[in-house]
Parts: sequence; structure tokens; C-alpha cells
Amino acid sequence: MSLNTYNIAIHGGAGTILRSEITHETEALYKQALTEAIQKGEAILKKRGTAIDAVQEAVVSLENCPLFNAGKGAVFTHEETHELDASIMRGDNLMAGAVAGVKKVKNPIVLARKVMENTEHVLLCGDGAQKFAQLSGVEIESESYFYNELRHKQWQKAIAHDRIALDHDITLDDKKFGTVGAVALDFHGNLAAATSTGGLTNKKFGRVGDSPIIGAGTYANNAQCAVSCTGHGEYFIKAVVAYDVYCLMEYRQLSLKEACHLVVHDKLVKIGGEGGLIAVDKNGAICLSFNSEGMYRASVGLTQDLHVAIYNDTK
Ligand code: ASP
Repeated sequence: MSLNTYNIAIHGGAGTILRSEITHETEALYKQALTEAIQKGEAILKKRGTAIDAVQEAVVSLENCPLFNAGKGAVFTHEETHELDASIMRGDNLMAGAVAGVKKVKNPIVLARKVMENTEHVLLCGDGAQKFAQLSGVEIESESYFYNELRHKQWQKAIAHDRIALDHDITLDDKKFGTVGAVALDFHGNLAAATSTGGLTNKKFGRVGDSPIIGAGTYANNAQCAVSCTGHGEYFIKAVVAYDVYCLMEYRQLSLKEACHLVVHDKLVKIGGEGGLIAVDKNGAICLSFNSEGMYRASVGLTQDLHVAIYNDTK
């Protein structure tokens, strides 16, 4: 099916992001990074490129930016290292690829794409994923590439309090960072979704969140929608958030907006799950939904002006 439109949305994480806590300069930096990333994705869609290329391009841009908790800006694990998770999915044939707990990979989303295209598997983790990264020729960086002073302070604080932290947990001064994701609809009527993260600060024991789990943090199906999530991963896994949005549309005929609202503001809230998601449906409707104080986000389409926002504007 060919449509006369395209749409793309991105997020840079959700959490306790308060206007009163962020300077104008910092806010401008975030907005600039979000704008650059979405424009890179949009450029592909404009040229009648594919949704899967667009979401990858946007996520790579966010992974390369130290402001967000993915790739270069990933948070520290308990062991003072970085373990990166990412997943990508195409809505036309349900092909999907994901990696969990990889180290020193510059762009985990590129590696997830390689899992999708060059293996018969969906999810690779730990040492095996690392070996695959080396064999597949993706860019590997030194530990120092991922070092970030602010991140390190967050980690020290988390260690001192012996707790894990969502990247925007204000009590740990973590509000500056966020998991990243993108969803898109292309001119050919194809949907795609991608998500990449460093996970939670001070995570232990090979903890993996929702981001690399197809159906939890990421899902795309041309029949309805593409979804990328951010928030406290354990709850997003339990609520199978991304797939639930799809199911509510497919089996209960809810609109994208209704489905996202039900999942984010009702189902997740009831189990204590803080966070949000971005979604686009097969007709190009976009939904940016979160139950936290804020979510770094942006959207644009052929017939929709660029929208870049951080806080909860309804408050
Ligand atoms: N969902 C991610 C995780 O739990 C964290 C985030 O979105 O900030 O690993």
C-alpha cells in the first residue's frame, strides 16, 4: 500500500523532568539535539526512503549525543561499566532484531539491525552478542568514549544509596538523560520502531529492561501501529506495553490515542509503572504519551509541523 504521507516521532526518555530544574541553555541543547535527530530521520522519509532506515538514522543521532542515556551517553552499571540494549522492528514483515548487555558498541541500534538482517535470531545478549558485534564489523569504542562526568556522579550517588535509578530520577540528579527511540510511517505505508538505552543507573546482575524486548519496549506491525517506550522497564515488561497498544487497536478497535491513553495513564499507573511512549499508526496519526513529569520528544510529518517538547504542557 502506498500512502501520500509520512510521519516520524522520537523520544529521548521520560521521567522527573521539571521546567524549574532545567536552565534555558540546557533546554535549548536538548531541543537542538531532538531537532537534529528527527530531521535526519525525516530527510530519509522525504526522499521516499524506508521507515526502518529513518528510525535507525534518528536513533543513531541520539545515540551519538551525550545528553541521552543511549550509546555515548549511557548510564553506568553497578560495576562502573556500560551495558547497552537496543531493538528494532519493521511493520511490513515483523522482522525484528535486538541486543542486550553489549559493551563498547558505538551504535547498538546498528547492531540490532544486523541481528535482524544477518541472523535467524531476534535477540542476542551478553558475550555472544559481543562476539557478534566484533564479527559484524560495527564500530567499537574505548571505555573512555562512554565516560561522562555527570553520569559518573549519578552512579556514585546511586551506589551510595544502594539503589537503581531511572535516568531522570530527580533525587539522584539524573534528570538530564534518557533512553531514546523512534517510530515512523513511510510513503510506502510501512511502519517501523527502534529503541536504544543504557538502562538504569547502578543496574546489577546483567539486568535487562524493556528496551530490547520486542513487544515490551518496541513493536511495529503495519496492521496498526509502531511503538517505542521509555520508563521503568520492569513495569513495561510486565504490562507488555508496546504490544498492548497494538492489541487494543487490533482487537478492540481503539484509536491510537485511546489505546496509548489506556496503557500509559491507566494500566501502567495501576501497577506503578512510570514512563511514556511514542507511537504512529498506519494512517499517520501520532501519539506522544507519558505519565511522568516530562518526556523529551519530537514529531514531524508531511502535513504536520515540527513539534519539539519536554514538559507536560497540560499542567
Ligand atoms: N526503559 C529503560 C529501561 O528500563 C529505561 C528508560 O527508558 O529510561 O532499561
